[in-house]
Amino acid sequence: MEERPFDDISYEQFLNEERLMGSRCKGCGVLFAPPRTICIKCYDNEMEWVEMKGKGKLAAFTCVAVGPPFMIKEGYDRKHPYVSGVVELEEGTRVVARIEGVDGSKPETIKIGAPLQIEFLHRGEANNSKTFLAFKPF
Ligand SMILES: [Zn+2]
Repeated sequence: MEERPFDDISYEQFLNEERLMGSRCKGCGVLFAPPRTICIKCYDNEMEWVEMKGKGKLAAFTCVAVGPPFMIKEGYDRKHPYVSGVVELEEGTRVVARIEGVDGSKPETIKIGAPLQIEFLHRGEANNSKTFLAFKPF
């Protein structure tokens, strides 16, 4: 299996490769995404990588009107808020991600519990590229 350390750097590398990976505690089976090195439930430090299928549902969200500079560059502002959400994955763990394909200026149209699927947003170029985790309704 994968030999990468269970940290944010590995997590982001996997995102670049279009894989959403978490760590599962070998002691009690709890899943963490982003990964953790030590289980917060049983304090075991034996972890293994698990790839998520990328399906889930919307558990919570906020519409962000004033975002960081790179979001403003993408055209999001007070008139065009973007949506940040918590997605409950089929695997049972929750991740924070951008929610695409919804209208942040009309939060009443965004439904908690809506089924979502993963999308990888590649931004920037070559050495400065970064991949953001996003989900969209399907
Ligand atoms: Zn554990």
